[in-house]
Amino acid sequence: MQSYNSFKVAQSQVEAAAKLLNLDQATLDLLLWPQREFTFTLPVTMDSGDIKILHGHRIQHNFARGPAKGGIRFHPDETIDTVRALAGWMTWKTAVADLPLGGGKGCIICDPRKMSQREIENTSRAYVRALWRHIGVDQDIAATDVYTNPQTMAWMLDEYETITGKHQPGVVTNKPLSLGGSEGRRNATGRGGVVVVREACKTYGVDPTGNYAIQGFGNAGQRAAMLHRELLGGGNLVAVSDSRGAIYNKDGLNPMELVNHKLRTGSVLDFPESETIDPDSLLELDVTVLYPAALENVIHFKNADRIQARIVCELANGPTSPQADAALFDRGIHVIPDILANAGGVTVSYLEMVQNRSSFYWNDASINKRLDATMITAYHAVHSASQTRKVSPRMGAMLVAVSRVAEACKLRGWV
Ligand code: NAD
Repeated sequence: MQSYNSFKVAQSQVEAAAKLLNLDQATLDLLLWPQREFTFTLPVTMDSGDIKILHGHRIQHNFARGPAKGGIRFHPDETIDTVRALAGWMTWKTAVADLPLGGGKGCIICDPRKMSQREIENTSRAYVRALWRHIGVDQDIAATDVYTNPQTMAWMLDEYETITGKHQPGVVTNKPLSLGGSEGRRNATGRGGVVVVREACKTYGVDPTGNYAIQGFGNAGQRAAMLHRELLGGGNLVAVSDSRGAIYNKDGLNPMELVNHKLRTGSVLDFPESETIDPDSLLELDVTVLYPAALENVIHFKNADRIQARIVCELANGPTSPQADAALFDRGIHVIPDILANAGGVTVSYLEMVQNRSSFYWNDASINKRLDATMITAYHAVHSASQTRKVSPRMGAMLVAVSRVAEACKLRGWV
């Protein structure tokens, strides 16, 4: 659980970038805050027949470059400030990837682990009934996030199309394939991360076939585990963790077999020929690449000095605290920041929207080609900004993103 206010952290990142870019006060004030916020109550019928009032937020951070884009999470501990921060990071992420989109995020405060499928469906449909006038392919496009999935998107899509009376699959992304989802979406975040690691290795002359470790073995972590070896031509996955614990094998773990083991048993623990290690020590292993792919704030001032990875690829959102980020930069550890490293997901979501608009669908190879090109261009834009300004890659990414969004705001005459 994070011990800091993530919205304040997000705002301080914008302030720092604005200072280096010499942005005027009005532009800064505009970018510090979401453009539109919705807070709503949802009456949801539970299986008992009782009506429960759930609370939720949808934050539309910025529209200058396109409609607000970002996930919706169902989680008991969400706060408006976390969602504000995540919405802002989506604005910067879509701008770093140079997608014609803004940023948004939403939540419904509930615990789907304690709800039936029918109750989750009622909750998903209630969200759309509360917001349908303010969302849509040209306004705000939701996607999956924590504890939401393609089925949740299918219910939201159906409710929206029922209310509006039109076929509009692009209103949500990460849909099931049979409802207009995209090929390549399942791999997208992991693949995008591995592609930027490949660029980093080339740029810094790092041998990509060394050891790597992954914290968090869910969608992003599993895909990165498998694609790392495929796209980098080698590499030894020596350690992996999930919420139940961490495992290690100095000779390497087979990613595909580990995915199957996790599917079968629900955990990475007890994988054959592996030893159990302290989950915190995974982050401190002597590896070429470390992929944090689970939670926020796992690299912090207490362990930053012990991180030995040459490259840290932030598949998770916000895994490195601001203090730790500065410490890693000083020690020459190349951190590929979240708004770049995990932008593969939103990039393929954008490609899903494009396919939905044209009613013409691409195959896996076409999606991967476009995804790779977007990630490579974004990596080099960030690298060039950080080299020119002599700042960390995170600040480089913020400079690229904030300058693009500020330019769009100015051209519109907003500031
Ligand atoms: P997921 O729920 O599929 O997987 C999360 C994994 O983290 C699970 O294996 C879980 O067991 C593990 N985990 C939980 N607590 C842990 C702990 N204390 N130590 C180690 N592992 C722990 O989620 P995901 O979709 O893979 O997302 C992971 C991160 O990547 C999140 O920060 C998410 O915001 C970010 N992200 C994901 C996507 C995407 O497309 N999936 C896109 C952008 C960013």
